[in-house]
Order: sequence, then structure tokens, then C-alpha cells
Amino acid sequence: MLITCLNCGHSFKGKYCPECGQSASVQKLTARALLSDTVHFFTHIEKGFLFTSRNFFIRPGVSSVQYIAGKRKIYQPPVSFFLIWTGLYFLQHNAIINYFGYQLPTKLIANGDIEEQSMLLFREHFTLFILPVIFLSALIIYYMLAKPRYNFMELISLCLFGTGIYFMMSAITDFVLGLVFRVNILADNVFLWQTVLSSAYNFWFSYDVFKRSHLRFFWLRLVSVSLLVAACGWVTMFYLPIVWIYLTRTS
Ligand SMILES: [Zn+2]
Repeated sequence: MLITCLNCGHSFKGKYCPECGQSASVQKLTARALLSDTVHFFTHIEKGFLFTSRNFFIRPGVSSVQYIAGKRKIYQPPVSFFLIWTGLYFLQHNAIINYFGYQLPTKLIANGDIEEQSMLLFREHFTLFILPVIFLSALIIYYMLAKPRYNFMELISLCLFGTGIYFMMSAITDFVLGLVFRVNILADNVFLWQTVLSSAYNFWFSYDVFKRSHLRFFWLRLVSVSLLVAACGWVTMFYLPIVWIYLTRTS
């Protein structure tokens, strides 16, 4: 018996439409269907968002190699992966701050100097400043570890996965410290901890991806990359906001 695909109208035999991939049996959108969809999302992590989160966290190397080589369907694509974790992080972050009334420690100092102002600006517009850091990190890793095996856009994709995991770790930190232990998540120590965490993860990610590339001076390259990425993160964090302040101040 031929089935007409409810998604694209193609007639076919089998369990899945060969044109668009939709399943032949589509459930009516009942409460039960939504519930089973929700349960499925959290329990079947053989593919999709949670699978991608788990695998890029515990084995970034294999996941990266697989994704670049073309094993794509089991992974969440990099841009949406990055956007979902960034979104979840900020939703929860702002909710916790508003609920407990946490404040930036430096905000208590009126008319702080330019360095303090830039720090505030950076932490208030975090996502804007994270994009140039992603770009520069990809550039550094590309020239020091990846070229010519991988191209630059493949590196950008990997950096988006990595940054997604960074926001995932920050979200977990916020949840545990802010919600469970009731610590002010805007405190400098928490920020420092997240910086250390991101450096450690960045090192682990680069190691796990490129250990199979048989590069000469691998450890030297790896350590240099980590230091350069950290340095470029710090420079972007401190100087870009200062440039911003100078450019906007004259008006
Ligand atoms: Zn179809």
C-alpha cells in the first residue's frame, strides 16, 4: 500500500519518506503525544541535543572527527547548539540574579575607573564579546594545529560546539552555586572559576581532537594554543570594552 507523506506529499512504501525523511506513522498532537515526545527527549539520548552535549563534553575528539567526516544526523548542528546553550544559560542566569537580587560587586563603587567600567560593560554584554573570541580562537587553533587537515569553517564549527559546552558548564555552575548553595553568582570568584573551567576544557578539547593528527611538537603547539587563546580572551575582555567606552563616550 502506498503511503502519502503528510509532510511533503510524496507517495512511498516503507517506514520513512525517502524524499524528506518524515516517519510514515504520524501521531495526532494529543497531550499524550507531547508527553511521550518530552520523555523521549530526555531518555533517548542516542542522538540530538542532549547526546551532542554529553558527547562533546566527555569525548570532544571522537565527536569532532565524526561530525567533520559527515556523521551529522546524530548531532545537533553547531550554530543551533551554541544558540540553545547560550539562551538557556542567560535565561537561568538572569532568573537567578533577579530572584535572589544578586548584584555585581563592582557596581557598588560609584564612578569606578575605566578598567572597572570596561569589566562591567563586558559582563553585561557578554555574548557580544564572546563572538570575536570564538573567531580569534578558531584562527589560532587553525594555524597552530589544524591546517591543512581541516579548513577554517570546520574549526569555527568546532569552536561553536566548544563554546556551547562552555555555556553548559557555566549554567551548571550557576545552578549549583546560585540555586543550591545560594552564592552570589556575580562574585569575582565565580567568574574566575568559570574562566579556569573554560581554559581546562579548551585544553582538553584541543588535545582530544588533535592527538590523532601526529603533529610534530604536539605538546609545544598545544600549550602555545592554550596560552594564546587564553591571552586573546583576556585582551578581548579588557581592551574591547575600553575601546567601546572611548568610542561611545564623546557623544
Ligand atoms: Zn516526505
